[in-house]
Amino acid sequence: MSRGRIILSVVVILLGIGVRAWLLREQPVNDEPFPMTLGPEYDPIVATIAAIKPLHEKKHPIQPGDWLEHFPEGGQSYAHYVHAKQHHPLHLDFSKIDVQPLGEFDETQLQLVHRTVEFMGHFFGVPVQELDPLEMGEIPESAQRMRKGERQILTTWILFDILKPRRDPKAIATIALVTGDLWPGDLNWVFGQASLTDRVGVWSLHRNGDPRASQAEFRLCLRRTLKTAVHETGHMLGIPHCAAWECCMNGSRNREESDRQPLEFCHECQAKIWWTCNADPLQRAQSLFDFCQKWGLDKEAEPFRKERDALSLLPGGSKLAR
Ligand SMILES: [Zn+2]
Ligand SMILES: [Zn+2]
Repeated sequence: MSRGRIILSVVVILLGIGVRAWLLREQPVNDEPFPMTLGPEYDPIVATIAAIKPLHEKKHPIQPGDWLEHFPEGGQSYAHYVHAKQHHPLHLDFSKIDVQPLGEFDETQLQLVHRTVEFMGHFFGVPVQELDPLEMGEIPESAQRMRKGERQILTTWILFDILKPRRDPKAIATIALVTGDLWPGDLNWVFGQASLTDRVGVWSLHRNGDPRASQAEFRLCLRRTLKTAVHETGHMLGIPHCAAWECCMNGSRNREESDRQPLEFCHECQAKIWWTCNADPLQRAQSLFDFCQKWGLDKEAEPFRKERDALSLLPGGSKLAR
């Protein structure tokens, strides 16, 4: 596949202020999430989805300037995801996610990276490895520019010249975290960018606030970094934007829209993780609740607690047979 085609299927392009997703396929919204065509082997996962569905809210009405106003995507149900068969269950071919700190980080920023890696492990239920920091090295002139007095780095240089040659074949996603501003080549700037086809992604802490300013500001930066981390990794697992439910896989065009979206995936998008990564839903909810409590994310902890309580009522627990 040519690089041009890859870029077209790249996940995130920021239109100066927003994030745009381009995926290989977008499925229509399916409010009847379990068509009869899903076989009985899916019964346990269907029952588990039903157990947490009441905890999730339908997508709120679109506000002026929102993602869906500009990009009326259809969304995708769990059943459509399974039928699309874009990805086999993770454990068949891949065994981990790699996170690569790239360039300069101070101690506070490294704390954000450590916690993001920890959170991603709980969220996806697979090992997430934080690789040793990598120097950015000499950046070609064509891969950098100055904008409003600040240097920006070209995302595609990081994706295809830095990450792709180094990626571990066992990693379903290799993600670089940087502290500087990112630029995709044609638009003004981006929060991040990922390639579904090459299993590489990059995102920046640059626009998430100043984690050194205060404890509250650190938590805000952490919350934003976690959201970007799981959203982009979700794309790398083949999950398109969610259009039917309030969900961290919702598209967003600006910081305000992103900040009002939940950290958790809806029941339909979560099921894609359970299926693809072989994640245990109850263990996942418990460990995410524990994480949020440990790091003072009280508001974010509550939905995970509710999911844990609902899942623990399931007969036979939440083990999903394959
Ligand atoms: Zn996206
Ligand atoms: Zn969703």
